[in-house]
Amino acid sequence: MNAASINELLLDTDLLSKLELVKVFKRHFEARAGQGELRSIVIDYLMDSDDDLRISNFDQVRFYGPSSGLSRYVANQLLLSLNVSSIKNKIWVIDQLNVSLKNLYDSKNPLLKTTKARLLIELLEQFLGDHFQRITNHRFLAIYFVPFENKQSNAAFDINTNSIAVFRTKRKKTQKPEYIFLHEFGHIIHCTLFKTTKEVPNSFIEFNKQMNPKFFEYSREDQLEIYADLFSIAVMLDSEFEDHNPFIKTMKRVHTEKIREYFLTELSKVR
Ligand SMILES: [Zn+2]
Repeated sequence: MNAASINELLLDTDLLSKLELVKVFKRHFEARAGQGELRSIVIDYLMDSDDDLRISNFDQVRFYGPSSGLSRYVANQLLLSLNVSSIKNKIWVIDQLNVSLKNLYDSKNPLLKTTKARLLIELLEQFLGDHFQRITNHRFLAIYFVPFENKQSNAAFDINTNSIAVFRTKRKKTQKPEYIFLHEFGHIIHCTLFKTTKEVPNSFIEFNKQMNPKFFEYSREDQLEIYADLFSIAVMLDSEFEDHNPFIKTMKRVHTEKIREYFLTELSKVR
């Protein structure tokens, strides 16, 4: 396949062209063919499609709306596959990308608006203070708005490329995209700031002993979902987005305040 057709597949906004790209890259790696040309095609695409080429040290977050979200998400994963060193890891990145793409399907459910995401990021920056930069290891965070629904998740954080792919929201009647975004960020906080990917933090277990004895009837996975939900409460409380949180209105004020206090105390302990 020549450079022009690969570039065309990168620019296309449909899923089939992305699955085709994945095949091309996988065949290429399996054949152990040279990567120089693929690398320049992907980098040229990424540079040409960015309206703002200025890569500033001041940029903390970059937003890529639904018209380019899928293409840029895929292009960055392809670049990652070129950047990792062993063929085994290259193929692993490509296989993961293939799985993610196969989970996507057309949907009319809402997608978080870029304008709203900017406001939510401001809210997170206020809440997290200096810790915000640590989450992304002092590199900028890319947020891709991918206009498809995902069979498995509402959003996906990738620590290798420092990016979040936001999909159309599942269960649209009960869940607002703004709440879901902050819930997903709760998982990111858990992995990056408190570095306990699969474990429930001890302090959170202690907190629930007092607040919610029912907590211990849930599986560890569900306990981590509760963690993300409570994080969303802590951030959204008293903000313009408070109404978008499904729990705040059902809880006593004193409980929501305790939740916020829990996360603020945790943040104050992070060095
Ligand atoms: Zn979750």
